[in-house]
Parts: sequence; structure tokens; C-alpha cells
Amino acid sequence: MRKRDFEHSQLGTKTVWAGEEAFLSHGSTQVPVVLSVAYGYDDVDVWYDVATGQKPGYMYNRMSNPTVQAFEQKVCTLEGAEAAIAFSSGMAAISSALYTFLRPGNRVVSVKDTYGGTNKIFTEFLPNINVDVVLCNTGSHEEIEAEIAKGCNLLYLESPTNPTLKILDIARLVKAAKAVGALVFIDNTIATPINQNPLRLGVDLVIHSATKFLSGHADVLGGVVCGSGALMEKVYHYREINGATMDPWSAYLMIRGMKTLKLRVEQQAKSAMALAGYLEKQELVEAVYYPGLPTHPHHEVVKAQMRGFGGIVSFVLKGEMDAVKILLPRLQYANRAGNLGAVETIYGPARTTSHVECTLEERQALGISEGLVRISCGIEDTEDLIADLDQAFRALAAHLQTN
Ligand SMILES: *Cc1c(COP(=O)(O)O)cnc(C)c1O
Repeated sequence: MRKRDFEHSQLGTKTVWAGEEAFLSHGSTQVPVVLSVAYGYDDVDVWYDVATGQKPGYMYNRMSNPTVQAFEQKVCTLEGAEAAIAFSSGMAAISSALYTFLRPGNRVVSVKDTYGGTNKIFTEFLPNINVDVVLCNTGSHEEIEAEIAKGCNLLYLESPTNPTLKILDIARLVKAAKAVGALVFIDNTIATPINQNPLRLGVDLVIHSATKFLSGHADVLGGVVCGSGALMEKVYHYREINGATMDPWSAYLMIRGMKTLKLRVEQQAKSAMALAGYLEKQELVEAVYYPGLPTHPHHEVVKAQMRGFGGIVSFVLKGEMDAVKILLPRLQYANRAGNLGAVETIYGPARTTSHVECTLEERQALGISEGLVRISCGIEDTEDLIADLDQAFRALAAHLQTN
């Protein structure tokens, strides 16, 4: 059989085949789950060579595991990276990437709209080790560029953001960061490698919460960091010592989920676009956030740096929490939960999901209204999702009329 190189293959083909071949055994067509914690060597000289990295091989699962490596290779191929390292959760991936490279006295520039956990690392943990973090207004590229120009060691990005789907011009900000010699990391969870490959735009490390779209089934936690071989060697060393390794069972579920990543993301984006269009026409809706809408403030940047608009759409309901409490229970095809990126559609108010740690004042400062609801579209038929939301809106309107 010809060895697969994926040089000319497209993303859907890569999601199915990439990363697996080297890890198949006994003629299996699916990657085996290797649970052995340690690997044995009868020849002490060979053992020594593997242990000291002079020969390829496995020693201990905190360091490397074939099932986990197959997952890492799949992500690597999809992001166009040289290496990828998997973690026990998205937050483990983010914190490990940050702590691998940051030192006391360093300065980080980022934005106010990063994921809640990331924001806590910036505001609570990094100051403890004397790392200065500046969080800019996400909408203002000028402000971000001005802070970078003052000097920084790391620019940390997230685009699109959650839950207001703000967009950062990645190439533009990378240029500013490179001018001062800063590293650039990006959380690519919401975009997925199907819609956006930031390494091609000059970003140094791409991070995913694999718990979301990559695995796709809301039944496994995981994270992954990818980038150049030289940088990833440092991230690998941090993980092998600090220990937030991905479990082999989790890696298997990740591999299985990722085979349908492109199909899922395409269907989710189709529904998100349709729901965004529906929501824009509703009288009871104050605002709709979706990068695919021509009215999105950075729609031109979106079209330049993303292949698709993604499966997340958020809207602000007039009547705030009182209205949210009436609308959400009416929905039939919806989990009301805090996660995103699953095959089932998920509805969640920012107040109980992405920004639950914030006070009302903090949410207001971020422009997050109490009536904001995030929809993470699943893979149900688009028409059913529209009809479901429509009957819930009609029930809300009827309720408002009689009360
Ligand atoms: C969920 C999420 C994370 C954190 O990932 P976990 O797997 O829950 O630790 C980080 N960034 C984004 C954008 C997320 O949605």
C-alpha cells in the first residue's frame, strides 16, 4: 500500500485517515487503546537507549502513549503543525503552554474576551509569579497594537471569542507581535481546524479545548497544543514533568469523534447561519452575534481568515433573565448546559455558562447582557432547529401578552 502523505488531500480526508497508520497493530483498522502504564525491555542496553531518547520507543504513559500519539498526529496534520501534545483538559493545555514559556518579569498582552478560565489565569495566577498581563478591549485592534508596541513577551489571542463572537485580525496582530519579538498563542477552539489554521498566519502555538468540537460528543475532556518542533519540545518537557497528560481512553474517543469533525462542523455552521437569520428578524431579540452575518463588524476579516463561520450563534433577548427563563424550558431539541461543540444543540445563558464567575458589573463591563443566550448548534436537521426555536418564541410572545 502507498504510504499516505496528506500533502494534497483535503480536510475531510485528513480527519478520517491522518495520524493513525503508524499506531495500528495486529492488522487492526482502528487505533488500539494501549492502557499499559509502563513498557518493558529485556535488553538493558536497548532500554537505556529508549530511556535516554537515543532510540524511539515508550517508557511510561506520562511521557508518551501510542493512542495519545495517534490523536496528537491527527490534530497536527489538520492544523499543519510540526508537532502536537495532548493534555487532560483544555485548561491544562492553556495553562501548560503559558507556564512553559512565561517567566517572572514577563509581560503578556491579551484581550478581555478570552475564555473564563483563561481570564482567571491572567487575573489571578500569573500576577502571583510576577507576570504582568494587560487585557485590551477585544474590539480595538489599535489598542492591542499600542500595548504590544510598548513591549511584550507573549500575545495571547482567541478568535472568534465566546459568547459574543468577536473577531481578531490574526495576521495584523501577529505582525505587531513579531515586530517586538513576542510569541503568539491562539485558542482556536471555537473556529476548529476546519474553519481556521492560525499557524499559517504566523501564530506560534495553536491551542484547543478538544472537549468541544474536536471530540464532538460531550463525553470526554481533553486539550491539545500544536506548533513548531522546537517550541513543542519545551511544551512536551513541561507536560512529562508536570503531568497533565491525556488518558488513552480519552485519546481513543477523541480519534473516533474527530473522524466526523468536518461533517459536523459543516452542518453546525449551516444551522447557525439559518438560526442567526431567523433571530435577526425577531422582535423580541435585541442583538444577534454571528461572524457569518454581513452586519458583523469584522465580517471582511472573517472572510479573509476563516473558511467557515462556525456553529456558535449568540443572541440577546429583550426582557433579560425573565424572558430567558420562559424561552429556554420551551425548547425541545436542546440541552441547557454549559458546554459547546457537541452533536446535540446546546443553549446556555452567559450568566450561567461562560461568565458564571463574573459579577453583574463585570459582565456589564464586558458588554455581556443578562439576556444573552449562546446557541451551540448540533447536527440535527436545520429545519427542526428553526421550528423548535420558533415555537418557543411564539410561546414567549403569548406569555408576554397575557402577563
Ligand atoms: C471549554 C473551553 C476551554 C477550556 O477547556 P476544558 O476542556 O473545559 O478545560 C478553553 N477555551 C475555550 C474557547 C473553551 O470553549
